[in-house]
Amino acid sequence: MPLTVVTLVLEYECGACCRPVSATLRWEGKPDRTGPQIAQVGLACPHGDCRRVNELTFDQAGNLYGVNARPRRPGHVPVWN
Ligand SMILES: [Zn+2]
Repeated sequence: MPLTVVTLVLEYECGACCRPVSATLRWEGKPDRTGPQIAQVGLACPHGDCRRVNELTFDQAGNLYGVNARPRRPGHVPVWN
C-alpha cells in the first residue's frame, strides 16, 4: 500500500529570536488514517546566533498550530515577561 507523500513548506517566526524561518518538510502518512493528521517535529533555527530548536505542530495541509522554542538547557525554565 502506498504512503501519502506530501511536501510542505512551513513559514514561521522562530520562537526564540522572532526571525522568519522557512522549512521544507516531507510528510509521509499512513493511508489507513482519515481526517486531519497532526504531526510534531523539532527544527533547529537556521540563524547562526540562535540555533534554538522550535517544536512545530502542523497538519498535512501545511497549517501551523504552534511554534514553541525548546528551552536551551534541559531543566532550565525560561521566564517570559
Ligand atoms: Zn531563532
